[in-house]
Amino acid sequence: MITYEEFCSRVAAVESRIAAAARAAGRDPATVRLLPVTKTHPADAAIHAARRGLAAVGENRVQEAAEKRPPAETALAAEGIAAPRWELIGHLQSNKARAAAETFDRIQSVDTEKLARRLDAAAAELGRPLAVLLQVNAGRDPAKFGCELEDAPRLLDAALGCAHLRVEGLMTIAPLGADAAETAALAERTFANLRELRDTLAARHGIALSELSMGMSGDLEAAVAAGSTCVRVGTALFGAR
Ligand SMILES: *Cc1c(COP(=O)(O)O)cnc(C)c1O
Repeated sequence: MITYEEFCSRVAAVESRIAAAARAAGRDPATVRLLPVTKTHPADAAIHAARRGLAAVGENRVQEAAEKRPPAETALAAEGIAAPRWELIGHLQSNKARAAAETFDRIQSVDTEKLARRLDAAAAELGRPLAVLLQVNAGRDPAKFGCELEDAPRLLDAALGCAHLRVEGLMTIAPLGADAAETAALAERTFANLRELRDTLAARHGIALSELSMGMSGDLEAAVAAGSTCVRVGTALFGAR
């Protein structure tokens, strides 16, 4: 695990990448949030993030987050530092919806109507609304989760019909190409697809869908250029997994 000082210098480097990409696109850098991805790293990673003032962390497995969240919160409470929110960015099976709703403040990976309904029921039982993003396979990658672009309107209708879900926007993961140039081209197309889908759905439903979660360590510039409001960064902050 890297030291807090090292972490802070990596955050500064990533923040300056985000700011440069935002300015190049004529956007205010403050409209892009950095979500540190702490998966596979110890609870200290989430503690570093909170100390540095980052408001949320991303994890891709329910069990791992459920184990790390309590010790991180205890340590932060002892220092008088506000605990971060926890967001699920990994695939979620509907039979784990209840555990996910208990563990996370927001689920970015809602990709089926069945999962939306299960999360809605869990949020109702817990007596609190649950923030969600709809994950879309905007790069048409057979290896990726997420609903197909064509199915997104129906998934959105279903999620909007869930009284205990708050649909805040869309999320996607770009496919990997055979080489760097193909990967970059696929990322650009994927992010443009998600942005266009969001604009269409928002107009059709008269809602904001303001969160566009796209971009990771390797492709955050392209995502910010396409309108990302949340870049999910693991490797560039915590090192290789
Ligand atoms: C792991 C992960 C990330 C972070 O990827 P890096 O390349 O390490 O920055 C972002 N999004 C999702 C969905 C992930 O699973």
